[in-house]
Amino acid sequence: MENVIELEECPCCRGNGVMMHEGGWSVQVECADCGSHTTYVEYETEEQKLEAERKVAMLWNIGKVIKANPSE
Ligand SMILES: [Zn+2]
Repeated sequence: MENVIELEECPCCRGNGVMMHEGGWSVQVECADCGSHTTYVEYETEEQKLEAERKVAMLWNIGKVIKANPSE
């Protein structure tokens, strides 16, 4: 079953957001260009994993990101 989560462009630089899984237990969305990212959301089960992915996508899409390089 395909479960595609749509990601808006980076709120900082309009780059591409990428879903990044860390160690199979947490996920965040990170910008491929400027490195801005959401917080990590942890998960344990497949169900929680989907929820975590939706949550970080939502955070990303509303622009709740941590800027990697605060410039000026
Ligand atoms: Zn960016």
